[in-house]
Amino acid sequence: MKYLLLLLVVMGLVFLSGVRKGRAGTGSAPSPGEDARPRGQAAGAGAAMMVSCAECGTHLPESEAFPGRGGHFCSAEHRQRHEARQSHG
Ligand SMILES: [Zn+2]
Repeated sequence: MKYLLLLLVVMGLVFLSGVRKGRAGTGSAPSPGEDARPRGQAAGAGAAMMVSCAECGTHLPESEAFPGRGGHFCSAEHRQRHEARQSHG
């Protein structure tokens, strides 16, 4: 007799979960056509961030760039030149 009761409880749970799924499907369904994948972010996540020299526009990874007041620079020379021009006005 005990097993019969257990079976009834299990079946009831399965039935309830089935009803819930059915209701969610017929109700406000979250557009199945669109597949939201973070593809754009994954592309730049692994690679180093690229920056451009504020003096000559050369692109280089941020890890190799020289950070300065006016942005990133490809070399210390360009940074000096840029900052010297800025200080002059
Ligand atoms: Zn440069």
